[in-house]
Amino acid sequence: MTVEPTRRTRPPSVERLLADVREEVHGREHDAVVKVARAVIADERDRLASGSPPRAVGELAAELVTRLDGLLIPGPTTVINATGVIVHTNIGRAPWPDAAIAAASRAAASPSFLELDRASGRRGSRYRLAEEHLIALTGSEDALVTNNNAAALALAVGLAGRGGVIVSRGELVEIGGGIRIPDIVRRAGAKLIEVGTTNRTRADDFAAPLADGRARMVLRVHPSNFRQDGFVESPDPTALAELAHAHGAVVVDDLGSGALLATEAFGLAHEPTPAERLAAGADVVTFSGDKLIGGPQAGLVVGRADLIARLRKDPLARATRPDKVTLAAVAATLGLYLGGLAIREIPVWRMIAARPDDLRARVEAMLARLDDPTLDAHPFAMASTVGGGSLPGETLPSWGLSLGGRSADALLARLRRGTPAVVARIEDDRVLIDLRTVDPLDDPDLTQAIAATVAGPRRTGPA
Ligand SMILES: *Cc1c(COP(=O)(O)O)cnc(C)c1O
Repeated sequence: MTVEPTRRTRPPSVERLLADVREEVHGREHDAVVKVARAVIADERDRLASGSPPRAVGELAAELVTRLDGLLIPGPTTVINATGVIVHTNIGRAPWPDAAIAAASRAAASPSFLELDRASGRRGSRYRLAEEHLIALTGSEDALVTNNNAAALALAVGLAGRGGVIVSRGELVEIGGGIRIPDIVRRAGAKLIEVGTTNRTRADDFAAPLADGRARMVLRVHPSNFRQDGFVESPDPTALAELAHAHGAVVVDDLGSGALLATEAFGLAHEPTPAERLAAGADVVTFSGDKLIGGPQAGLVVGRADLIARLRKDPLARATRPDKVTLAAVAATLGLYLGGLAIREIPVWRMIAARPDDLRARVEAMLARLDDPTLDAHPFAMASTVGGGSLPGETLPSWGLSLGGRSADALLARLRRGTPAVVARIEDDRVLIDLRTVDPLDDPDLTQAIAATVAGPRRTGPA
């Protein structure tokens, strides 16, 4: 083995590299540039140590600038959602309505009357508009916004103190990401009291622990990410609330998604609304901001004024408090419901309301633009889902493209790695592009992404 002269196995000095990029890094803080330059040199030293040929200073300089620029890329790479799953957890759940984006960006950019009372000039309560909108939309006495619904639920369970929290065995669910209802109850310091069975629970089952005074709370958890069919029964909310109240216990109802519009008007099953659960006697109802509400991630809490006041005073409320940007975006999203523009302006509802005929027309337009006789693509009737732990098993008739011509896994991966990135799904060894979840404004980009994907080398054998 020949040993290179030391001169050639040593990378240039940091100073030498910095001298080469003086123009390109003008305006950047020196210390930050030096840190990245040191990292580039360290990597070059490792390369040389492993026997790679030395790179020219110019190359290292370009690498330095690329790394500095890379630090400025705004957030994760965006994707086109062609999965047909409207609220897709892994790609960011609900896309925000324009009004929410505008409100958030104003709140982020400028000081605002967040906690300053405009009339008196004194410190006021934190921005109330989102909560006032919730009150107007649900008829509740008061409302509170947290970071997410899991936080809202943990906060609400805290109302039981060290007392008992009764949950039906049919509702002891995992809500996602390994978070389970029994753990939330225990973590809050309360005692879990299980009643009923996996498939059937009646209001009567709650009577004994309520009567002997062990229970301070009845917790209902909406089965939002699974469905039970067959020999099943769950207690009537009104009857259960009456029983709980007769024994001085509070009823907390975690709706998960919750909806402010009637899902059945779109051919879906009925998703419970916060207003109807309050009317049925729930004292506190919690739901997510970024599922069927279609706004930013948030936990939305509505209910009795005295209980919301207690939640507001809980130190955990401070720890799970949303920032001004979220509050502004929640208020803007809820304002769309109040202003009668929810279906038109909230992307989640636009996707739910999209008509199959219109989706089909978009497919035809895309195929006409693709205009490639060798392309293995045809219009295809498919079924979209709501996703995100809402309306499990429910589907909406949709249209899209069915793509073949190479292994479906390879096609899917190429679409995901393309620009723009496209996330789709596989059925029967074909890639399905579901247009229900694609913004029509993205159709040209999507068409281009598909053209680029299928233009690559064809399958030569099994993938
Ligand atoms: C989704 C869900 C949650 C958690 O809500 P996040 O906003 O994701 O924190 C809690 N409970 C139920 C029933 C859910 O479906």
